[in-house]
Amino acid sequence: MSSVHMTDACRFCSIGAKASTASLVDKPWLEDDHYYAIASIGALVPGWSLIVPKKHSYNLVDHLENADFYKFVEAAVSRIESMYGPVLAFEHGSIAADSATSCGTAHAHLHLVPLSFALADAAVEADSSLAWDTVRLADLAQVVGGNEYLFVADRYNGRETTGLVTTLQAGRSQFFRRIIASHLGCPDEYDYKEFPRLEIAASTAISLSHDVGLISRVA
Ligand SMILES: [Zn+2]
Ligand SMILES: [Zn+2]
Repeated sequence: MSSVHMTDACRFCSIGAKASTASLVDKPWLEDDHYYAIASIGALVPGWSLIVPKKHSYNLVDHLENADFYKFVEAAVSRIESMYGPVLAFEHGSIAADSATSCGTAHAHLHLVPLSFALADAAVEADSSLAWDTVRLADLAQVVGGNEYLFVADRYNGRETTGLVTTLQAGRSQFFRRIIASHLGCPDEYDYKEFPRLEIAASTAISLSHDVGLISRVA
């Protein structure tokens, strides 16, 4: 079966269905009815997390009109920033289960990375064959029009988040991870399969699960 609604064998569907609780890294540190946040395997810095819709899809375009999505991401960003500092965001949006762009996880997710770094500029410089356009996150769906894409924003600001997008003719594997690894001085360690760094993900999961006294946005 290659249905987009599949849940078998999809790690993110399993986590969302609470079918995968064996590992601390597979335990969401924040969740609501539609979304969860987990520490990222292969994190190159502490705090690196993923926002994952519980419903299986290949990319986030169906969520970008959805107030619940922004509300959830905002809560997650607040918590990460209170512990680790400003986050940047990126997505590698695939349109097929076997795309190289999906980096082996063909279930939509937004990367939130606590790094103060002009990743968008670095992305433009990294590959002169890609054409980038400025886009508001809320307008991303119209711009990408059903193509595979890469999106990056140096700061997250809800639906007003402004970043760069490029559509892809051919899949790109771990594009942003390569740039971040180079920036951090470990260019050979970009591959999360080879360098899963589970100890960083585990400490992120523990820290972000316990936000004692850190959330100051009390209504
Ligand atoms: Zn899935
Ligand atoms: Zn990813």
